[in-house]
Amino acid sequence: MPTEHKHCQCQETQNHFLERAFESLQLENAQRELLLSAFRETTVSIPLRPHRTDDDGGELHTYTGYRVQHNHARGPFKGGLRFHQSVNMGEIRALAQLMTWKTALVNVPFGGAKGGIAVDPNQLSQYALETLTKRFVQKMGLVFGVHHDIPAPDVGTNPQVMAWILEEYSKTHGYTPAIVTGKPIELGGSAGRLEATGRGVAYLTGKIASEMALPIKDAAVVIQGFGNVGFHTAQHLAAMGARVIALSDAHNGVICETGIDIEQAHHYVTKTGWLEGLPGTESINNAELLELSCDILIPAAIEATINCDNADAIQARLVVEAANMPITHLADTTLCERGIMVVPDLLANAGGVLTSYYEWVQNLQEFPWEYDTVMLRLEQRLGQVYQQVHDLAKQGNTDLRTAAYELAIGRVNQAMALRGF
Ligand code: NAD
Repeated sequence: MPTEHKHCQCQETQNHFLERAFESLQLENAQRELLLSAFRETTVSIPLRPHRTDDDGGELHTYTGYRVQHNHARGPFKGGLRFHQSVNMGEIRALAQLMTWKTALVNVPFGGAKGGIAVDPNQLSQYALETLTKRFVQKMGLVFGVHHDIPAPDVGTNPQVMAWILEEYSKTHGYTPAIVTGKPIELGGSAGRLEATGRGVAYLTGKIASEMALPIKDAAVVIQGFGNVGFHTAQHLAAMGARVIALSDAHNGVICETGIDIEQAHHYVTKTGWLEGLPGTESINNAELLELSCDILIPAAIEATINCDNADAIQARLVVEAANMPITHLADTTLCERGIMVVPDLLANAGGVLTSYYEWVQNLQEFPWEYDTVMLRLEQRLGQVYQQVHDLAKQGNTDLRTAAYELAIGRVNQAMALRGF
């Protein structure tokens, strides 16, 4: 198997998937170029003395923040903010593009964007994190806007970070809940948004497994990543009767063949900061975890964890991309050739952006919806989108990913043509 270059995997993977769809849509070179290019890429420097609580002493550090606005043909830019030490322009650029295809696939009136700060949030005090977030918003002031660009949570950010964004933006624009999604409910967040991505992953996993004659009841599930998405996916799959046999975080993983108690695991992580040592489990590392014998594997952490080094060793029948771009294109080809069903990220984790859209609508209308209404709409829309992708894949004798990209790119291309981009 050819060697992959870790640092440029995101863009390479994205380009490869896009090429397949471009070919099948028979797009001209000029159209391809336009679809690939970003509307605007912004980089900011954020000086901070991170380890002091009053920010008037200590060692000065300059952090780098990014926002890539990829395409807005179908509506305002939309995409998460990632706080992680490995954040860089190449990664954010690829993730911003993916957001354009994702919003188009689920047919919400948004474009695509992504942003972040190269920082390990676990190394900062809450005060330093708040200051860093607010300074980022000050510097990105002209970039964000309710009808222009709306951020949301991603790796390393959460409702509290969204609340700080809302506060900083509101200082200059008046109280503006619709500027950000994934907020706390007390500040206009939507019922169900926190769990929406994981809930959508679990819903689609159950639906597709049953079509594969793989009963979800007692199915052995392995999940990499136990943050927002990993936890809620595990919680809902366990409620559906699945046996979650292994979980992991950045530090390490845990395994229990009879099934892990997800609420207990969540409680333990909240208390200790990691899964290692969870009572009733044995320790396992992230590499071993991905290669476990199981029915369903759900990568819910970061990019490129399934790659040339381990694609041949994956034993699951169904792999569901809860994370963005967890499978490199070469590994994707290997899994396909081995007959392993892969549910692509732009479909699998779209419950997040779908519910972000519902949150934005509720904010604009100043009329909150009930939890059951949000969940019903989420599952109905995901079910419809899956059916469209499934039918297109069958019709074109292709895989779910290629069909999903075709549907999404077709919509963006049409909107650009109509607007005269
Ligand atoms: P999070 O920060 O809440 O959790 C990330 C988890 O991954 C943590 O458990 C962390 O310890 C673990 N992790 C980090 N590096 C790892 C590594 N090298 N190996 C194994 N585990 C590692 O983030 P999240 O919001 O749950 O996002 C997870 C993935 O889902 C990301 O790819 C994100 O882009 C994608 N996603 C998130 C949302 C959302 O609504 N939060 C929506 C769509 C897609």
